[in-house]
Amino acid sequence: MDWEGFVKECKNCTRCGLSNNRQNVVIGRGVPKPCPVLFVGEGPGEQEDIQGEAFVGRAGKLLDILLTALDFNPEHYYIANVVKCRPPDNRIPTWEEMEACLPWLRYQVKFIKPFIIVCLGATAAKAIIDRDAKITQIRGQWVEKGGFLMFPTYHPAAVLRDIRKREDFYLDMKNVKEKLESISGQVHKNT
Ligand code: SF4
Repeated sequence: MDWEGFVKECKNCTRCGLSNNRQNVVIGRGVPKPCPVLFVGEGPGEQEDIQGEAFVGRAGKLLDILLTALDFNPEHYYIANVVKCRPPDNRIPTWEEMEACLPWLRYQVKFIKPFIIVCLGATAAKAIIDRDAKITQIRGQWVEKGGFLMFPTYHPAAVLRDIRKREDFYLDMKNVKEKLESISGQVHKNT
């Protein structure tokens, strides 16, 4: 299946109940081509559901400001979520919903071929790294899994809610940028 076919399949997906109330299936944000970093959040919020694009609300703007400040090249990252349809009232997606949707994310990983997967928040860390993970315990630590370098940090929405998390979030993103620079030789071969 090529990327266009994947997008079409996602847009018609009814694998879980989140399809019932969505306005849009939110595939992600970025240029769909191999790139070294994949950011994964929890799921679309209100603005994402309306606009059909990932991380376009307040949390996404905070992430963008930070990535720009740290001089991330927009061609070097793609942003997606664990689930592609908005959970009602922004509740945490259930395990059944996540398990239904993760095959789509796995397809994106195969297509994007990232070296680094940054888990934004507890839900992404649990879905991708370890179901029993506690974000407060594993945040800011590199994990090698399945041939990827994985890095759990806060979700930017949590940083907006709690100003005390801002410094750690900034340092985590700086850590990701430094890791990206340290593997730049491999990255240039891949992109
Ligand atoms: S959340 Fe994922 S699995 Fe559920 S309907 Fe949407 S695209 Fe399909």
